[in-house]
Amino acid sequence: MNATMAVLVLVGVVVLAVGVVLVRHMVNLRAALARADAIAAAERVRTDQEQAAADDHRSRLARALDAIPQGVLIADPAGTVVFRNRVAETFADARHSDALVEAAVGELLAEALVGLAADRTIDLFGPPRRTLVITTVPFDDGALVVIDDISERRRLEATRRDFVANISHELKTPVGAMGLLAETLTMEDDPAVARRLAERIVDEAFRMDRTIEDLLVLTRIESEEAAEREPVAANVAIAEAVERIRPGAEQAGIVIEVAEADPGLVVFSDRRQIVSALYNLLDNAVKYSDPGAVVEVRAVADGDQLRIAVQDHGFGIPKGDLERVFERFYRVDQARSRSTGGTGLGLAIVRHVATNHAGEVTVESRLGEGSTFTLVLPCDTRSPVDEPIPPLSVPIGARAGDGDTP
Ligand code: ADP
Repeated sequence: MNATMAVLVLVGVVVLAVGVVLVRHMVNLRAALARADAIAAAERVRTDQEQAAADDHRSRLARALDAIPQGVLIADPAGTVVFRNRVAETFADARHSDALVEAAVGELLAEALVGLAADRTIDLFGPPRRTLVITTVPFDDGALVVIDDISERRRLEATRRDFVANISHELKTPVGAMGLLAETLTMEDDPAVARRLAERIVDEAFRMDRTIEDLLVLTRIESEEAAEREPVAANVAIAEAVERIRPGAEQAGIVIEVAEADPGLVVFSDRRQIVSALYNLLDNAVKYSDPGAVVEVRAVADGDQLRIAVQDHGFGIPKGDLERVFERFYRVDQARSRSTGGTGLGLAIVRHVATNHAGEVTVESRLGEGSTFTLVLPCDTRSPVDEPIPPLSVPIGARAGDGDTP
């Protein structure tokens, strides 16, 4: 082998060695690239999962905020609204009075973005009339606005305030009268006059007692929405109420005629409440009729409803007062109600009983001709009641027209 050959062999060996090294590097490189791809793919999956979880979280939060009754609005530091829940949406691009809300939100938001928390009450004259409170909460990176409709709360507060004022007035009157009468009595020497004064004190005390009693009944009925229910036959409830009114009816010379109802007419109800409602309707029919007048009571089925009508032929109610007679302490004729011992709470009790039983009370009346109050209740067809009707000491008789809807 000459020198040239030796060099060629050497070069060949070197090239081979370099080739081997290169191939090994390429293999390693490919493995490294494959590893990097796998890591990148895993990273992508993780990011996708995190993104999906974040989207899920955001949409759950949005759904939760959509479910609340307040309007919620979130703005970024530049003042751009990045979230509005469903209620807040109704004020966006609003016209007329709702535009006032949007304008106020804009102003308060600008203040919140410079770190000033605030609230503002806005009265919208509607209709419907509404009161809204807008509250802002500044964040490090934006601000939150809450729009709260407090109309119902305001209305309830006003009703409660009126009620307390009415009660105070209703009780103050007899207490004041009793005080004056008692004072006069202490200075009275004539036994006949003293007796008359004492009798008037007793009347006032009874009047106050009736008001307190009705208030207690009303409070009990209001808190007994889910009271125990039992199947009560219309006949039985009517008989019980008529029995309670009997002494008063006899004293006033009023005849109560009851058309005996189908024994299958049953209402799943709180018996005490139903009897109390019927008693109040009968009491009014007796109080607001002339002596010798007739009051009729009848119960009829009307589809899946039971209608118990109490009809009198008394003074009647002016058309303009018909809607209001169910309000607490509302009286068409103050003097007459007082002289008959009315508390102004009877029909409020009846209406509460009806609503508690998913029913209603309606009235038809003509001035000078009389009134018909009808208690409408869902009929219970499941359970006929065999309970005997309590004995009655006022006339009961089927009259012409029995079974007619009043
Ligand atoms: P009151 O205790 O004054 O009778 P209610 O709430 O029972 O209070 O009735 C409210 C008002 O409705 C009464 O003051 C009376 O003016 C009127 N009213 C109720 N029932 C009758 C009726 N059957 N006939 C005429 N007016 C009635």
